[in-house]
Amino acid sequence: MHNKKVLFKGVSFGNQEHALERNKIMNYLKKNNIMLVEDINDADVVICDTCLFYFEDSLEAIDFLNKNKNKNAILIVTGVLSAKKELVKNRKGMIFLLNDELHMLDNILKVKYRFDTINEYFFSDFGVYSIFISKGCFQECTFCVDKYGFGKLRSVEPKEIIKLFKRGVENKCKIFHLLGQNTSIYGWDINTNLASLLGNIIKIPGNYKIKLDCVNPDFLIYLEELKPILRSNKISSIRISLNAATDKILNLVGKKFKINDFITFLGWMNKYCYETELIIVLITGYPGENFKDFKKMVGFILKYSNINLIFPIYVYKDIYFAESYKLKDKVNKTEKEIRKVLIDILLILVKHVEIEMRKSSSFKKRLFDAFLHNDSYDEMLDTLLKFNKQIKLENKSLNMLFYKAIYMIEAGDRVRKKRRWPVKRCIKL
Ligand code: SF4
Repeated sequence: MHNKKVLFKGVSFGNQEHALERNKIMNYLKKNNIMLVEDINDADVVICDTCLFYFEDSLEAIDFLNKNKNKNAILIVTGVLSAKKELVKNRKGMIFLLNDELHMLDNILKVKYRFDTINEYFFSDFGVYSIFISKGCFQECTFCVDKYGFGKLRSVEPKEIIKLFKRGVENKCKIFHLLGQNTSIYGWDINTNLASLLGNIIKIPGNYKIKLDCVNPDFLIYLEELKPILRSNKISSIRISLNAATDKILNLVGKKFKINDFITFLGWMNKYCYETELIIVLITGYPGENFKDFKKMVGFILKYSNINLIFPIYVYKDIYFAESYKLKDKVNKTEKEIRKVLIDILLILVKHVEIEMRKSSSFKKRLFDAFLHNDSYDEMLDTLLKFNKQIKLENKSLNMLFYKAIYMIEAGDRVRKKRRWPVKRCIKL
């Protein structure tokens, strides 16, 4: 019988693979009756689960825990930072464990139930039954730092996934979530693919829906196989990491597909699977993204947005050990923020008209045409203000965004003196 008390801290929410590992560590600690404590003074073992996208926060957290833990307490660093432990100064005495090394906790904690006996393929949260279908990735997105920590693609055997899925159906689960670091390449290491897996899953009778997460547009390669599954009405949502809206930026991200092929897919979805929710992730401010590219992204959003399509927008983060750090023509921080805030405003307006107005397409077309003539951020903002006046949307957060945009474009530009981004004239509310 052990008597260790453990403090567990996670840095950032992390992605799906982080979520799974964290959940698994918690299940492991609970199953072994290890006492979890909140106060660092009570802990014999401190576990810090880290994230490389937030490596500054991870370093800060480790530093804090290391300084404040009991003298004899052990500090264990899990998560992706373990792949870059050279970033941690004063790491003497710390134990770094990559995801594949978590079984070493057995010895450290002297537990009864080994780490590899904890079921790693699913967890159920808020009524959603999540199944991990693969780990790792072999792709080369230039901004990605996760790939350093999660290793090569390792797909779970289809029969294992089917077994877990059936268990969920027997337990009357209605929503299934299929997760992986990059689910679109599921099975490429074991001679199968996502379409084949889904084809077998949807044969399982039951009243359920499936959500697909972390899907890269690599599925375009086997789209024809996927189409009947998408039309089966069983797939309720797909989260796609598109990242960019032009071939130029896709190429800089390290992607091989063409934006037009993706657009063709969107058109097909719109025609045959209109009710499937699409969540299309974009990044603004990628190195090399000039004003023209930014306008193309705005145009893309306006053209393809619809009631069931959501565009989460991220600002590019320049991490010095990511490959994209070496790319030329970086976008400065303020300009990245201006782009983000303009898109945030646009998305609020567009969602409002899609929900409230019957003729949302003519509104979007007029906005699109107006943007075509805008050559600067202030002109774009002016256009957004005018359209907002027309639709009379009263919304506190929208007003805040307008003020933020005005401040960033005007004051930011004045302070900098040098007009390094396109700003033409003052804007009045
Ligand atoms: S698809 Fe790209 S971003 Fe996603 S894990 Fe693989 S390399 Fe990283």
